[in-house]
Amino acid sequence: MQGQSLTTVADYERLVGGKTVERILDKARRLGDLHVVNVSSTYYGGGVAEILSSLTLLMNSAGIKTGWRIIQGRPDFFSITKKMHNALQGDEINLTSLKMQIYEEVALENAVRNHFDHDLVIVHDPQPLPLIQHYRKKSPWVWRCHVDLTQPNAELWSYLSKLIERYDAVVLSLPAYAQNLGTPQRFIMPAINPFSSTNKDLTDKEIDERLSHYDIPTDLPIVVQVSRFDKWKDPEGVIRAFQIARKSVDCTLVLVGNIATDDPEGQDVFASLCRCADERIRILSVQDSALVNALQRRAAVVLQKSIREGFGLTVTEAMWKGAAVVGGRAGGITHQIEDGVNGFLVGSVEEAAERIVALLKDRTLASRLGEKARESVRNRFLMTRLMEEWLDLMGSFEPRFGLRGAAGSQN
Ligand code: UDP
Repeated sequence: MQGQSLTTVADYERLVGGKTVERILDKARRLGDLHVVNVSSTYYGGGVAEILSSLTLLMNSAGIKTGWRIIQGRPDFFSITKKMHNALQGDEINLTSLKMQIYEEVALENAVRNHFDHDLVIVHDPQPLPLIQHYRKKSPWVWRCHVDLTQPNAELWSYLSKLIERYDAVVLSLPAYAQNLGTPQRFIMPAINPFSSTNKDLTDKEIDERLSHYDIPTDLPIVVQVSRFDKWKDPEGVIRAFQIARKSVDCTLVLVGNIATDDPEGQDVFASLCRCADERIRILSVQDSALVNALQRRAAVVLQKSIREGFGLTVTEAMWKGAAVVGGRAGGITHQIEDGVNGFLVGSVEEAAERIVALLKDRTLASRLGEKARESVRNRFLMTRLMEEWLDLMGSFEPRFGLRGAAGSQN
């Protein structure tokens, strides 16, 4: 195959330096030929899939045999797990015994179909969480939760924590998400692959081609939000902010989203937003990483006006491209944007509108923030940093699964 090659740790050398590359490869070598499996609920359509697509390949390139399996589930199962996702982010939930039965039944079916006899099993998010009930563990199991756990629903948490406490470690994105658990908790922030189709450099011609493919007008400055059609991303707030901003500055809003197979609410959110579409408010439901890349590069302002956000890879991606980013003051976004330094944080529709106008009027400000944004991603949010933190965690398991020096939580 001509020109086909996978990214390796060495490809990051010009971004992170030779010493970092050597240190990571050395840590990987010391783990021997560890066999690791990740389990999640969708191959595309959200941050978990985006991270695993790159991280699993990078791990393999360094000799850690890393696989990725998806659980199969019926629509009613995913409707329940989406309700759980929402409740973990603070919603109410009507947790009936039927819901718990379907949830656990699907886990049993998937447990029978899969044979996890790996050296490490990493289970992502609530969907596959109960799998652990059906195994006699031979190795450590880690639950990696990506959602914003600022205020989980107490009833749901009490049900799930019985499952969570069967794990040997829990990995959350931020110390602020730490819970009262008997299981040791570790905190690892996600990261991006700068060489993926979402993030790699594009020429102006390639950007133009993607935008014209979707008939996106380029005559006025573009304001963009890229995210699943999910209420926590506040797409309605984005439209309202844009409507206020456009009274002061002419611009076009593009909302791009995809609908993940494990997110049954997306279709309804998309349909209701479409009522607001007009010549200057474009709403696209499509899975096209090159379009995401092109929009984040061409946008005059990138919004991520989330109300809850586990981490917010779309923020990282836009910052990497030197975009002027306006993010909701929520979860992981506040760990990426330093207000007024490498972007803006906002707490309301009005504030978002104000920042959009300011950035559209002052392009020097926009590029100054964008430059800082790119630099902060280079320093903190590239995939090599994420890989190294996982290697450290893998190396810290004692033979009998416990984490060395483990306490309930660690900041
Ligand atoms: N994404 C995409 N197309 C879309 C919307 C999102 O490819 O239409 C990608 C986006 O580029 C990012 C991921 O999906 O890599 C979303 O991750 P994030 O952490 O922002 O949010 P999540 O969906 O996990 O809540």
